[in-house]
Amino acid sequence: MHDLADVRVFVYRSFAERGGPPVIEEVAAEFGIGADEALQALRALHDAHLLVLDADRRRIVMAHPWSAVPLGFVVAGERMKWWGGCAWDSFAIPALAGEPCLVATHCPGCGRALALDVCPDEPPTADMVAHFLVPIPRMWDDVMFACGHQSLFCAEEHVGRWLRETRNPRGVLLDLRTLWLLATRWYAGRLTRDYRRRTPDEARALFQELGLSGPFWGDDTPRERPAAGTGGLPRTEPALLVRCGPAASPAGRRPER
Ligand SMILES: [Zn+2]
Repeated sequence: MHDLADVRVFVYRSFAERGGPPVIEEVAAEFGIGADEALQALRALHDAHLLVLDADRRRIVMAHPWSAVPLGFVVAGERMKWWGGCAWDSFAIPALAGEPCLVATHCPGCGRALALDVCPDEPPTADMVAHFLVPIPRMWDDVMFACGHQSLFCAEEHVGRWLRETRNPRGVLLDLRTLWLLATRWYAGRLTRDYRRRTPDEARALFQELGLSGPFWGDDTPRERPAAGTGGLPRTEPALLVRCGPAASPAGRRPER
């Protein structure tokens, strides 16, 4: 007998403690079940977006924030190193590991190697930016693509350069403090059995606490009702660029609750 939550925790702990995922036979042995049943459990977790299987649906390639395949980020702790799925994921791993980690990647805009120390208990101060290309509501359309395009850049100008060269639309920029807050809060508790995926409303609430709102973050509702007598036109948010961090903290914004 096995419970999906136990299988999920087994997979996540394998990433955290061994640096990679278990194979099907290890899942089967852990729970005293057959390989077919183990595969069914992994496929159920994949379908619930709690891990990602490869195209053949037989091998674990990701269990966010960890990846079994290189996606451009290396996260090195005191005794272990991991592939981070993206900038968001890589900034979460130090808190889950409970130790400072070296996060290394390349700036897509100029190709320069970027490395910084990320701690579990305070955000890094480096003057880089993160750019997320794929809006949150579309992330699971192709989660590997979405993760592969949540990158760290030297500076905002290098984001612009990369967007022009790749002809990608602009997504959102985050400073490192906001990225770190998002990562550590989003992934908190992922190694515990009680963890469950946030509902869209819960996700939006967390994003809004961090000043992240608008269609990119799945927030399509106008933030303020139009005042009486203004013709009743709803406020629109056409731009996907969200500036965030201390400089854009919620002054003038209504409290959420
Ligand atoms: Zn650069």
